[in-house]
Amino acid sequence: MTFTSRRVAQPVLGIFGGGQLARMTCVAAQALGHAVRVLDPDPDCPAATVSDELITAEFDDVIAAQRLALGCTAVTVDLENVGLDALRAAARHAPMRPSPDVLEVVQNRARQRAWLVDHAIPIPDVFHVSDAGDLDAALQKAGRPAFVKAVQGGYDGKGQVRVRSDADVEEARRLASATPVVVEAEVDFVAEISVQVARTPDGHMSTFPPALNHHRSQVLEWSMLPAPIDAEIALAARMLGESIAEKLDVVGLLTVELFLIRDGRLLVNELAPRPHNSFHTTLGQARTSQFSQLCRAVLGLPLGEPSVSPTIVMANLLGEHWSEAGALDVATLLAVPGVDVTVYGKRLARPGRKMGHLIAALPDATDAFDAASRAMAFLGTTLTPSPLLEPES
Ligand code: AMP
Repeated sequence: MTFTSRRVAQPVLGIFGGGQLARMTCVAAQALGHAVRVLDPDPDCPAATVSDELITAEFDDVIAAQRLALGCTAVTVDLENVGLDALRAAARHAPMRPSPDVLEVVQNRARQRAWLVDHAIPIPDVFHVSDAGDLDAALQKAGRPAFVKAVQGGYDGKGQVRVRSDADVEEARRLASATPVVVEAEVDFVAEISVQVARTPDGHMSTFPPALNHHRSQVLEWSMLPAPIDAEIALAARMLGESIAEKLDVVGLLTVELFLIRDGRLLVNELAPRPHNSFHTTLGQARTSQFSQLCRAVLGLPLGEPSVSPTIVMANLLGEHWSEAGALDVATLLAVPGVDVTVYGKRLARPGRKMGHLIAALPDATDAFDAASRAMAFLGTTLTPSPLLEPES
C-alpha cells in the first residue's frame, strides 16, 4: 500500500473565557485532535499560552463573539458571565454548549433560584430584595447569620456579605445600593459536596462521584474525590444532578454545589454549567478528567468512564502562597509523597486569587488529606479539617 502524505484536518473548539478552566480545557481538546480558539479581554490570560488562537475582546462584544464561533465544531464557556447578545450571536454560527438559554438562567442568582423553586428542587431559604429599602425586611426574615449576595457577577465570595453584626449590615447596605441582591438564611450544614454531570447533545450522561468541599471565607480551600459519604447520599446527589441537567437541557458539564444538612437532605447552593474547581482532582486520578469530559460532551464524542481511584485531595494555591520574589516553592511541594502541582500561569499574584492547585492522591482518605496538609503547611497554610474525616472515638 502506498502512503501519500495528507494534511491533518483541524476542527476548532471555541471557548468564551481564557481563565484556568479554559487553559486546562485547551490541553484536553488538543489531545482529542481539536484546535482551540479562546476569547478573553486579557491578552495575558492563563489560556493565552496554550490556545491555538486568542481573540482579545470584552465578553459583550457581539462582533468578536461571531469571530469566535465562525467555523467551530462547538463553542463552550469557562465562566457564566458572558453577555446574552454575544452568546446568541455566537449561537448563530456554531452550536453553543451550554446554550444561551441555560446561561441566562444560571448567570443571575435570582433567576437561578426561581428556576430551582419552579422545578421543586430544594434550596436554602431565599428572600428577594426589589430595592435597597427592602434589605432590612429581608434580613429580619432570614435571621442571623445570613448571606447577602449580588444577583449577578459574584464569585469566590466577591459580591457577598455574611451578616452577623450591625457592622456587617452596613456593608450589606453598601452592596445592595450598588447592585441588585438576594438574601439567604445561613444553612447549618454537615458538609458541602458537589456533583458533576457530563451530558451530550443526544442526552447521554456520565457523572463523577460527589466531591467533598471545604471553604474558607467563602473561597474553596480544599476538595476530596470521592467524598467520604454514605453510598445512598452519593446516589441521591447523582440523581439530583442528572435530573437538573436533563430539566435544564445542559449540553456539556453541569456542576451542582450542594449542602448536606443534618437530616440527610441535600439543598442546592449553586449551579455551574462548566468545569469546576472542585473537580480538578479528576486531572489526577480519574480515568477521564472533567476537561476531557467537557470536550467529549460538547463535541458529541462518547463520554469517558467516570470512575476514580484512589482518594484524591485538591488544595487551592492562592496569591499569598507565592513568595515576595514572585515564586512558588514547587520543589518542596513535590517532595511530599503523593503530591502533584498545577500552576495556571497568571502573571499577578493577588491575595485570595486562584493561582494553581495541588493534588494529593493516596488510597486512604485521611492519608491523602494529611499529605495535602503537610504540603500546604510548607506554604504557611493549615488546611481546615473536616468532621467527616475525624477518627472515630
Ligand atoms: P457561593 O458563592 O454562593 O457558592 O458561596 C460560597 C460559599 O459560601 C459556599 O460554598 C458556602 O461555604 C458559603 N455559603 C454561601 N451561601 C451560604 C448559605 N446560605 N448558608 C451557608 N453557607 C453559605
